[in-house]
Amino acid sequence: MKQSGQCPKCSSTNIIHDAKAIDYYDYGVQETMRVGVDRNPSAWIFKGQENSTVSAWVCGDCGFVEFYADEPTKLLDAADEAEQK
Ligand SMILES: [Zn+2]
Repeated sequence: MKQSGQCPKCSSTNIIHDAKAIDYYDYGVQETMRVGVDRNPSAWIFKGQENSTVSAWVCGDCGFVEFYADEPTKLLDAADEAEQK
């Protein structure tokens, strides 16, 4: 959807670009949704987590949502390191 500008579900081109993906926490404080990858997933603590905020592409007709990590290379680097352990 991000690359094509077209919804893969209903073929609409009414796409909302780069919408904010919001997680809600206590007291109404808004936080941007994140995805995380641990560099050392088997560690008890100090897992060396890298994380990235995500942005959403939303179909304005059927509501289909696609999420994209804003910093994917950071996550890939952490995943590569975790795989080597
Ligand atoms: Zn759609």
